Amino acid sequence: MGWVYNSRQMLLHSRIALVFSLTLTAWAQQAPQYDLLLQGGHVIDAKSNLSATRDVAILNGKIAAVEPKIDPARAFKTVNVAGLLVTPGIIDIHFHSYTGTGEKNSYAGDLSILPDGFTFRTGVTTVADAGCSGWRNFEDFKQRVIDRSKTRILVFLNIVGNGMRQGKFEGDLTDMEVKPATEMAMKYKDLIIGIKTAHFPGPEWTPVENAVAVGTAANIPVMVDFGNNRPERPLEQLLGTKLRPGDIYTHCLSGLRGELGRDGKMNPAMQQGRKRGIYFDLGQGGGSLAYPVAMQAVKEKFIPDSISTDLHTSSMNSGTKDMLNLMSEMLAMGLTVDEVVARATWNPAREIRQEALGNLSVGSPADIAVLNVRTGKFGFADMYGARLNGTKRLECELTLRNGKVVYDLNAIARPAWETLPKDYRRQGDARWDAISPVGRGGGGRSAAPHTP
Ligand SMILES: [Zn+2]
Repeated sequence: MGWVYNSRQMLLHSRIALVFSLTLTAWAQQAPQYDLLLQGGHVIDAKSNLSATRDVAILNGKIAAVEPKIDPARAFKTVNVAGLLVTPGIIDIHFHSYTGTGEKNSYAGDLSILPDGFTFRTGVTTVADAGCSGWRNFEDFKQRVIDRSKTRILVFLNIVGNGMRQGKFEGDLTDMEVKPATEMAMKYKDLIIGIKTAHFPGPEWTPVENAVAVGTAANIPVMVDFGNNRPERPLEQLLGTKLRPGDIYTHCLSGLRGELGRDGKMNPAMQQGRKRGIYFDLGQGGGSLAYPVAMQAVKEKFIPDSISTDLHTSSMNSGTKDMLNLMSEMLAMGLTVDEVVARATWNPAREIRQEALGNLSVGSPADIAVLNVRTGKFGFADMYGARLNGTKRLECELTLRNGKVVYDLNAIARPAWETLPKDYRRQGDARWDAISPVGRGGGGRSAAPHTP
């Protein structure tokens, strides 16, 4: 028995010694602890109420540290972002991306756009498709666009089974079925984060009521584009009783559905809706922001909770353009940089109940936008083609998705070519670079160096 006791003890001791020596070795080697360090930027993280100079370290695609000073020796790669803003990756909760079906004049077709060409270059890392697909075509949308995009695409499922195919489809009360829509939302809980009703021309409440029924059954919010303005279903009733706290009223500053009263003041139903917990979303799009409405709203401190584009083929080159343009437009209306960043990051994350996103907490996905605030003479346009002058414009310098550089406007993450050996080849490393990586699991190594 004594021998058994001793051997067990020996085994235990040798294990302790092994763990101890491994720890010592790791400590002695001082291997870089972080994959990437963004150094010296002005960090704006609304979730933690932070707006100050901070270093941000990233490891394995996650935020690893946000501190006043982090030693660059602890990072494999350091990028100096002094003088720039460092914000969570921007979230655009009103986007139209179900393209590629070949259907003309349809948001489940030609009117939609592929996100990757519009997102990373404007600091956007997540979009929510606002109702292009319904339960009948969501899975086609998923395999056609969502699964093939680098941008994170979440979805408001349309209450209309056929989705946003315009005209007779969107007005069809018989295709707004609660059961199959609920089943689809439950089947894809990680992608379907809300229900959308939109563009309804009729006097019935059915689209709103059925959307809310699905939202309740699947425990997700409803986003409402309130369609044609009908006296049978007034805004007061929508915001006062029909919607639940946590539901989202988009196109909130269009003025097309009584948002601004005849007396020139905001409809009191808007403030009352906000008090009930309804969220108000910009969704400027092709025809949903008028400066007389917006400026009165700002005057009454009725600021949208979230800034979103409603981007599609008709709004992409209009007054809307992109998220940074709309954020800059709100600066021109008198909001602060911190206020617009919150409305493009943490606020929309909470509206779609994705609290892991839109913040820079340690452990959150390292989706990050590095922005430059340009000063000069700028202008913005509303739905009626009127201009608003501004003095600031936000520009995207660098975008990170899951901790890797996916966009780098001025190549600030790159070494100057003159400093490299004459026969230099591919720069960048898969630890931090998703554009032209070499190394750890990257495709770069397998691609043979280009020889002239
Ligand atoms: Zn829309």
